[in-house]
Amino acid sequence: MVKKIAVLGGGESGIGTAILAKKNGYEVFLSDKGKIKDKYIEVLKHIEIEWEEQQHTESKIFDADVVMKSPGIPDTAPLVKQLREQGIPVVSEIEFASWFSDVPVIGITGSNGKTTVTNLIQHLLKEGGIDSAMGGNVGNSYAKLVAEEVHDWFVLELSSFQLDGIEKFRPKIAILTNITPDHLDRYEYKLENYIASKFRITKNQTEEDFFIYDADDKNITEWLKKNPVRSQKLPFSLEKKVESGAYIENENIVININNTQFTMPTSELALQGKHNAKNAMAAATVSQLLRIRKQTIRESMANFQGVEHRLEKVLKINNVLYINDSKATNVNATFYALESMETETVWIVGGVDKGNVYDDLLPLVNEKVKAIICLGVDNDKIVNAFGNIVENMVETSSMNDAVQIAYRLAEKGDTVLLSPACASFDLFENYEDRGRQFKEAVRNL
Ligand code: ADP
Repeated sequence: MVKKIAVLGGGESGIGTAILAKKNGYEVFLSDKGKIKDKYIEVLKHIEIEWEEQQHTESKIFDADVVMKSPGIPDTAPLVKQLREQGIPVVSEIEFASWFSDVPVIGITGSNGKTTVTNLIQHLLKEGGIDSAMGGNVGNSYAKLVAEEVHDWFVLELSSFQLDGIEKFRPKIAILTNITPDHLDRYEYKLENYIASKFRITKNQTEEDFFIYDADDKNITEWLKKNPVRSQKLPFSLEKKVESGAYIENENIVININNTQFTMPTSELALQGKHNAKNAMAAATVSQLLRIRKQTIRESMANFQGVEHRLEKVLKINNVLYINDSKATNVNATFYALESMETETVWIVGGVDKGNVYDDLLPLVNEKVKAIICLGVDNDKIVNAFGNIVENMVETSSMNDAVQIAYRLAEKGDTVLLSPACASFDLFENYEDRGRQFKEAVRNL
């Protein structure tokens, strides 16, 4: 009998699922309550499946044997609840795709650093001559990769929403970069729930698999004490020596796995800053596991170009460096950005606040920030948090103004840093739009 799948959501994961399901003989119905982008409509027409937008025809959805729910749709949505009540399995695209692939997966999750680590691993594998493709929460969906590409490895960025809907998905190598409060609105405002969601990446792992994680992160280590994982643990740490895993000694990254040792001076890493040393340790640990030549690992970590909008160096003008860290949408990401500043800094910050607490930033701001440029519709919280320690504070509501003012305030040797600690939706389409506007304004100076 032909199996029926209903796909909820017509974005990257929905389209990928539709392609994969169709290829595997499913009868597919895709439904999106909003509008579907033109480029995806083209695909839907091309693969000849039934679809709808701006509505959910429930009779068709409830007729399915399985439902794929896009990560943007919360578990609490009435439709999802009803489906589950009626015993219809609701899975994520990651789970569905895993049913059709034997290709081993390197899965990367965490609150910050996912995209950086995913790109760095893909770069290392490529340079190391290992055939892999990258996707998941960046670029192509996992389902699309499974449907259309043949490789020896998949390198997947995984968000907690994507992990929420897995049952059997089992990455050979799982990486958890860190856990700081984020998206709590989807987790009943309980940090525990969010941590549990991240740890689902290890749920189906066995003794033959590997789990790479930040051993300096209390949320992770405390959880591990109470909830042991089955896979082989390979922690990384900036603070202490670990027996099996990665650590720092005399300003060198050291990785010990199965009695082989890799070392590399942190000064040679292309991406600077403590957080990037952690990202590098995670990626190098994977490379060691896959037995990439040590010299190749070193060279690749030294020549990695970085990812757009993540501490991206834009230009130096009058000996002032402009850095685009638009992807810093939470306080933790901005913490690391400020920490990595080596000069006096003019800091552009603000946007839509997801319940930010700025206390952790105070010492860094005190030490490094000479002026704050607020860039948001509502800047009260920022003014209140830093008004006492930074005298020079300006409120703006356009990127052009912010950059012009930064230009005037910065002196030779300073850095102008866009690291908003907030989401971008008040003034911009998304963080990419914000970052691109920043770069354009800088280039027009
Ligand atoms: P994600 O994909 O998890 O959002 P990104 O790699 O896109 O992570 O980085 C998001 C932001 O977090 C950027 O501002 C970046 O500089 C910062 N960041 C990158 N790696 C880390 C890390 N290990 N810890 C904290 N912040 C990080």
